[in-house]
Amino acid sequence: MTLHVPFDNSYARLPERFFARQPADPVRAPSLIAVNADLARALGIDPDALATDDGIAMLSGNAAPTGADPLAQAYAGHQFGGWSPQLGDGRALLLGEVVDQSGQRRDIQLKGSGRTPFSRMGDGRAWLGPVLREYVISEAMHAMGIPTTRALAAVVTGETVLRERPLPGAVLTRVAASHIRVGTFQYFAARGDVEAIRLLADHVIARHYPTVTSPLGLLDAVIDAQSDLIAKWLGVGFIHGVMNTDNCAISGETIDYGPCAFMDRYEGGKVFSSIDRGGRYAYDKQPDIAVWNLAQFATCLLPLISDDRDQAVDQASEAVHRFPQCFAECWQATFRAKLGLNTAEANDALLIDSLLSRMEAGGADFTNTFAGLANGTAAAAFHEPEILDPWLEDYQARLDRQPGDVDTDAMTRANPLIIPRNHQIEAMIAAAVGGDFAPFHHLHAATIQPFNLTDPDLALPPGPGQEVRQTFCGT
Ligand code: AMP
Ligand code: MG
Repeated sequence: MTLHVPFDNSYARLPERFFARQPADPVRAPSLIAVNADLARALGIDPDALATDDGIAMLSGNAAPTGADPLAQAYAGHQFGGWSPQLGDGRALLLGEVVDQSGQRRDIQLKGSGRTPFSRMGDGRAWLGPVLREYVISEAMHAMGIPTTRALAAVVTGETVLRERPLPGAVLTRVAASHIRVGTFQYFAARGDVEAIRLLADHVIARHYPTVTSPLGLLDAVIDAQSDLIAKWLGVGFIHGVMNTDNCAISGETIDYGPCAFMDRYEGGKVFSSIDRGGRYAYDKQPDIAVWNLAQFATCLLPLISDDRDQAVDQASEAVHRFPQCFAECWQATFRAKLGLNTAEANDALLIDSLLSRMEAGGADFTNTFAGLANGTAAAAFHEPEILDPWLEDYQARLDRQPGDVDTDAMTRANPLIIPRNHQIEAMIAAAVGGDFAPFHHLHAATIQPFNLTDPDLALPPGPGQEVRQTFCGT
């Protein structure tokens, strides 16, 4: 069995100033934790070949397979609103791209593969915790129908990474529609490199939005994609935690699973990330932050939109101002599906908001409230179940006004039963650090079938003392 990856690398054909070409830094004793066989096959890669010595050499960065052209991408970004003119892949390498079985071009990237010219003070490495976290959460997001980067494989390196303490090193192989971010455009905009912005925009249009015919059309398409994405996050209680412009993918995929988390008990202003002290990236702030990020993207595109600066600003502003309406429509569609509503009424947003405020007042588990709506057990997710009663009457009246029965299958697909809960993730990581990967495999297997109750224990909110209050970037 020989490893063959059908590379076709388009980003590497862009000008040299878009990246730093370099090999990965080898590791001592890599061994495989997991391979995503279905994804491998979709990419035209034999999953069994990934488990051979050659496969593990690729997945650990010890040898680049034929056709790979490893490079670290340059980008900039606003981090917590503060401008960083140069970030770039400091612990990641793009091995190359493949065109998958459905004709879509996908990046294959190693994360944790060693230092690059963009590493600054970092060691270029990743430890096991964030690698397993991203593996589980990104695949769960995909299974729930949320656009996301994917996990192709995880390996341990056989080396130690020093964080607060020595921890096992690991490498994640990530697959994405592309790793081009708002921050990639900002990198060139900050340097006044209009030619590069034009090349990047053309690259992105060809790759992600082939029906788009103008820079303004690209802005509109990215606004639509982000509206859809953020609405879907809110629909599963997901808090990204670091919505910096360098973590905002132009493709509309969720990218960079750092301190992200799903809520257990619903709280509109919920924050998990230890470094998000001001709550900039709180659950209910995510749509506002998306607008902020899109405004940065729009600013980068101004020189392409029109030679007349005022006209460009007017057109870009108009596009960005479309976001709230566009997002509201996506959000209502997401939550209507969760409630099993197949028609639209003017007061639906009020009905949804009323449910959410009762959930907050009643200490309700987000996932289990929605999962319980289909079978009449929603109140059981509340600490104070009677808070839900008046709402259930309004809800029943609303259901009675729509034609036909509730499509319970559709409602099931809108309301996951099992999500990767924080306390389960932490327990899984602790076990893996101790050498036991069974909880990782078990949690992964359950969360990629989120609509089946394969393990009822995994649907339980954290018990006393199990609740995770903070998450960490983990770099
Ligand atoms: P993130 O917060 O994960 O989006 O990363 C922000 C920036 O820090 C990116 O440029 C990363 O490549 C870089 N970075 C994060 N962790 C490391 C690390 N361990 N070594 C080098 N660079 C890193
Ligand atoms: Mg990042």
